[in-house]
Amino acid sequence: MDVISYLTTVNFGAGAATSLPQIMSELGLSRPLIVSDPGIVAAGLLDRPEFGALSGLPRFLDVPANPTESAVFAGLDAYRGAGCDGVIAIGGGSPIDLAKGIALLATHDGPLEQYAAILGGIARITPNVAPLIAIPTTAGTGSEVGRAALITLDDGRKLGFISGHLIPKRAICDPLLTLGLPAGLTAATALDALSHCIETYLSPRFNPPAEAIARDGFERIWKALPVAVREPTNVAARSDLMMGALEGGMTFQKGLGAVHSLSHALGGLKDLKLHHGLLNAILMPEVIRWNREVPEAAEKLNTLERLAGITEGTLAEELERLNQSLGTSARLSELGVSREIIGWICERALADHSHATNPRPLSATDYAQIIEAVY
Ligand SMILES: [Zn+2]
Repeated sequence: MDVISYLTTVNFGAGAATSLPQIMSELGLSRPLIVSDPGIVAAGLLDRPEFGALSGLPRFLDVPANPTESAVFAGLDAYRGAGCDGVIAIGGGSPIDLAKGIALLATHDGPLEQYAAILGGIARITPNVAPLIAIPTTAGTGSEVGRAALITLDDGRKLGFISGHLIPKRAICDPLLTLGLPAGLTAATALDALSHCIETYLSPRFNPPAEAIARDGFERIWKALPVAVREPTNVAARSDLMMGALEGGMTFQKGLGAVHSLSHALGGLKDLKLHHGLLNAILMPEVIRWNREVPEAAEKLNTLERLAGITEGTLAEELERLNQSLGTSARLSELGVSREIIGWICERALADHSHATNPRPLSATDYAQIIEAVY
């Protein structure tokens, strides 16, 4: 196991989960709230011997697929009712984001809305956020080292809560926890992580260390994903995916781009509940074609193509081929997205926090063109 300190301290490696009792004592946690979801419980992950230290601790398992304001308050009730002193999130991005919301409101007065980034919330979030340990069980979102939590308010707005104080105090990344992840979920979550590496790398914000990390994450995921899908218990491939996902999360500070401004909008369609990673997989090739018109972006895409060992200029086509082989290819119409809401999606994308850092500026009409290409 290696210990890496960048944004937060990460215990990484096969078997890293066994360090949980040690980390709890380092952070002074004696009664943390365990936040997880029914899928994790059903998969038996909480019963693993590594998590023996958690038996008898209060649990909040009622985490929806996309975190909501009401779930934050239900979790907060559990936290206060049990007299908790911190939070341990175990799962994919949803339990981790929800845990960030609980850790925030455990020490900050409501309403939740006032802490949303677009409502001036960044300055209202103090270092006083309750301590959080994040243990991802997918290799995807990077939320274990990310500053943001995406939470849907009761009135339907999906808002970003962003602050360095929301970064988990510790992340434990143990690839052994991902060996049982089915192929479809492995692919969709890894393609989300791949899109984080590509979009942050192409973002025009100046941050060479983050770009170096994004390149490394891209290369690892590109090479390991087909192996992990073919051989689900290949620990080296699982480890590379988990590192790539972690690296994608480490580079969020550069900002994402049009893939995410569109997938956030589409992911907000309550009745469809579309998977974030699947949406990004579908949108990526078209957005790459769009961005290649900008010389700086084209140069970076060429660099990624060299790292991937593919012909320059073919990343979009290669991603389409990858989607075909992994079963992550679909048209938006097949997923139930109705033509009538395309205008609304484009307006939401323009207002998204990822919109401003796409290397080639987009208007509502441009967004509509991209959607049309994958519709
Ligand atoms: Zn994402």
